[in-house]
Amino acid sequence: MTDPNTTIIEGRRADTGRRIRLVANGGFVASMEETESPGQAAAGPDELWIAPGFVDLQINGYGGEDINLTGADMHQRVETVKRLVRAVLASGTTSFCPTVITASFEQMKDCMTAVRLACEQDELTASAVAGIHMEGPYISGENGPRGAHPAEHVRDPDWAEFSAWQEASGDRIRLVTLAPERPGAAEFIRKLTEAGVVASIGHTAADHDHIAAAVEAGARMSTHLGNGAHPQLPRHPHYIWSQLAEDRLAASVICDGHHLHFSVVNVMHKVKGETLLLVSDAVHLAGLPPGTYRTHVGGEVELLPSGRLHMVDNPNLLAGSAVSLADCVGRFAQMTGSPLATAVAMATDRPARLLGCAGIGTLEIGQAADVVTFRWNAEAGKLDVQAVYKRGRLVGPERRGEIVPRT
Ligand SMILES: [Zn+2]
Repeated sequence: MTDPNTTIIEGRRADTGRRIRLVANGGFVASMEETESPGQAAAGPDELWIAPGFVDLQINGYGGEDINLTGADMHQRVETVKRLVRAVLASGTTSFCPTVITASFEQMKDCMTAVRLACEQDELTASAVAGIHMEGPYISGENGPRGAHPAEHVRDPDWAEFSAWQEASGDRIRLVTLAPERPGAAEFIRKLTEAGVVASIGHTAADHDHIAAAVEAGARMSTHLGNGAHPQLPRHPHYIWSQLAEDRLAASVICDGHHLHFSVVNVMHKVKGETLLLVSDAVHLAGLPPGTYRTHVGGEVELLPSGRLHMVDNPNLLAGSAVSLADCVGRFAQMTGSPLATAVAMATDRPARLLGCAGIGTLEIGQAADVVTFRWNAEAGKLDVQAVYKRGRLVGPERRGEIVPRT
């Protein structure tokens, strides 16, 4: 008789390349045994790979569910968070940061409250939310660096305002993206750092000195480096060079094939080394059919069959991405010629460590059995998720017709 608390997962580890048999019990990894003898054949096209579930530091929405929902009551917001968690899990991402973006005080507070209530009411949500990423409102108001954030709500850092949001979230805000040139930014970053919140530079038009001051104050990351920037920059110096040159800054990149040219991805990979990590920056349209959609982030956006998502009134401006982190892992490996193990680490271990999350992002005995299995087509840069387990329980993908918990 099989134990309902036990799950057995077999595949070739993406990090070591060794075939294993992983046994999860009670939601945690109980054992991992190698199942091949030395010298066994290399991985074939039908190989089933096994990796920790992906960890995404930036998700605005997925599968039609939007964390930054407007005009909704609290019940609708909380249920949206729960549905979002399930849609994200089914994509192969087992931990993530719901990303609350620039808006009015009340709107952002409602988003924070909704995440807290969803976590308090729903165990699956609580285990999948690694923390809230607050992107804005303390960002640049300039066109370009501001991206699709609403101009009327960008403003200077305000610790009292942030504290109210942090309280509403139940202390879940763990990552804040801001522009260092905003008055009071350095002091704000110092306070974030003291509070254990990661300060990240993004949506910025800062000069070199402001970036240096932000790093001195404790900033540790660049948010989607190379995006949320002016279409044209002075050749040097400018804020992208300054952030690339700073070893104390990790950097996230949106490697969806649209946000960054492959040459830029390669340079960032070479410069940032083991501190470069992948985020999807997925918006709620990710996973929906191509077409034109109206959104709260400044009007109409168009989703192309290629997965490119841009503003209708200015197609040069991207409006977030419409891919999963699993897609980005595949794309990154293809664009840079990196080993699969490297691309997977950039979407598992590295983001988990940056956020200070123990127990996720690696495959180790005693850790949560958050596991994804997939097939890997290196030539096409395509990572095809086959099964997703959260704490040992099957949660995706939906298209295989398996039972995915929806409540
Ligand atoms: Zn952004």
